[in-house]
Amino acid sequence: MNEIAAALPAGDIAAALPAGDVELSFEFFPPKTEKMEAELWDTVTALAPYAPRFVSVTYGAGGTTRQRTHATVQRIVNETALDAAAHLTCVGASRTGILEIAQAYWAAGVRHIVALRGDPPAGGGRFTPHPDGFENAAALTAALKRLAPFEISVAGYPEYHPDSVSPQADIDNLKAKIDAGADRVLTQFFFAPEIFLRFRDRVAASGIKAELVPGILPIANAAQAQKFAAACGASIPPKLAHLLEQLDDRPEMRPLVAAMVAGALCQSLYAAGVRQFHFYTLNRAPMTQALCHMLGRRAAAGNDTALNRALYHAPVPVQ
Ligand code: FAD
Repeated sequence: MNEIAAALPAGDIAAALPAGDVELSFEFFPPKTEKMEAELWDTVTALAPYAPRFVSVTYGAGGTTRQRTHATVQRIVNETALDAAAHLTCVGASRTGILEIAQAYWAAGVRHIVALRGDPPAGGGRFTPHPDGFENAAALTAALKRLAPFEISVAGYPEYHPDSVSPQADIDNLKAKIDAGADRVLTQFFFAPEIFLRFRDRVAASGIKAELVPGILPIANAAQAQKFAAACGASIPPKLAHLLEQLDDRPEMRPLVAAMVAGALCQSLYAAGVRQFHFYTLNRAPMTQALCHMLGRRAAAGNDTALNRALYHAPVPVQ
């Protein structure tokens, strides 16, 4: 055995594997139907043993899922010990209306908001603030911090936001959100490690000290990748596009390739010193579980304290 180990080349795969010293968060979207709710709950239950720092629940484009987001976050708070973060956008509501939602979250025991500007409903063109609304995520962040000592995460764009006039303007906007009180940046997804690493350099150069957490979206086929990329401006490297070719017609290969691509991305980021990861789960457990595993994280065993804490906890006190 030792001879075999000695014969392995330096930089063998085992040596390169992450040690599990990572911090994870998982993003879900609010389910539309009872069946989807059951699937989401199976997913939450399956992922809780990986002991994420927090899980977050999105707010539908155009502010369309207000009730469902609230109900999902509330259920996580009531039935698990996971830290739940509610996404909240500025779309289609007055400042008072948005702060009432935030106040209700605080009363329900939610202490973490992902503060976003949001987008108009599909086909709605550019964002226009509500006449009495917040103009952007920085203004929302400042108001939330005045309302209560929420932990606040905001969005960052490694390939810069389509509305920004330049990459530097986008960084300035990010800095404004941090200066307004945000604690953490969760990034838009991207498909090449150097895109994130260059962004990390620009963020550091601007003096931003907040945590910068890459958002990881496993992609399963070319059509899906193009759809997501078109929606947010993320680029697909030509080699990756080539890798995804033909998977549209081969569903059985898709999860295997998606896991390998996302796993390689995570491992490259890990090798570059990244220790925090935010997974866009799409409300499914297996892919996220596989990525946790590849990052060295194991699920807590059935009688483990972390698992019990995550699944069966005392209700959060309401202030
Ligand atoms: P902001 O940071 O306010 O602004 C976005 C861009 O607009 C800036 O980069 C800047 O270029 C420009 N801009 C802003 N203010 C000004 C100004 N005063 N003058 C000039 N330019 C300005 N969307 C949802 O609807 N629901 C969600 O749950 C959701 N979750 C998300 C989670 C993550 C991690 C990420 C990365 C995105 C999410 N989004 C969500 C998408 C997000 O709402 C959109 O990307 C939206 O277009 C921008 O939101 P923001 O908070 O980044 O906006």
